[in-house]
Amino acid sequence: MTTTIASATLRTLHRMHRQLADLAEQLAAGPRSVAVRGKQVQAAEAKKATAADDVKKAKMAADQKQLQLKSAESKIGDLEGKLNACKTNREYQTLTDQIAADRMATKVLEDEILESLERIDALKPAVPAAETEIEAARKLLAEAEAKVRTETGRLEAEVARIRGEIQVAEKDLEADVREKYDRVVKLKGADGMAPVDGHSCGGCYQQLTSNMVSEVLMGRVIMCRSCGRLLYMPESSSST
Ligand SMILES: [Zn+2]
Repeated sequence: MTTTIASATLRTLHRMHRQLADLAEQLAAGPRSVAVRGKQVQAAEAKKATAADDVKKAKMAADQKQLQLKSAESKIGDLEGKLNACKTNREYQTLTDQIAADRMATKVLEDEILESLERIDALKPAVPAAETEIEAARKLLAEAEAKVRTETGRLEAEVARIRGEIQVAEKDLEADVREKYDRVVKLKGADGMAPVDGHSCGGCYQQLTSNMVSEVLMGRVIMCRSCGRLLYMPESSSST
């Protein structure tokens, strides 16, 4: 009778402590997923900032070249104005050569401007793409936050309920067992108990002596020598 009670009580308590551990894990998982989603939003925002910065830099480079072009064109204008004032053919020729060279340079500049405008066009779509990404990441974050809000209350209520059940079940433990149980549970929680699994500890899978198995079968509550878990008989063999 004692065997059955001790084993059954420890078995029940072990199940409840495992439920508690599982609930604690679920409670921790919510904020963790919120943190991950938050980081994804930040990453998407950083991506948008980089994309916008790339466009800005490309525009500045294009503006710079346009200014250069303007000043080159005005210089050509000045030189052309001086053509009529040339007094010798040689002077005229030098000036004409200079103008031709400057025009070549502006042609190169014009090509470069065209290239930089094309570059801006190529860079631009990355900004709205990043915005879409931000929006999606924010939506996932909001979902994770909402889930935590609704789940936390339910999980905490479940924890309270199981804690109450544990307190009731603990009353069935005899004083000396209760002392061992309290110590081990305080230290290891759900890992403080394990069923006997054949001739092994169901927690650490180390072999138990036949003597130890017999003791558990006789209703004594003993600890696994390897891992310190309190051993109990699993349900299938509790009646033997
Ligand atoms: Zn063990």
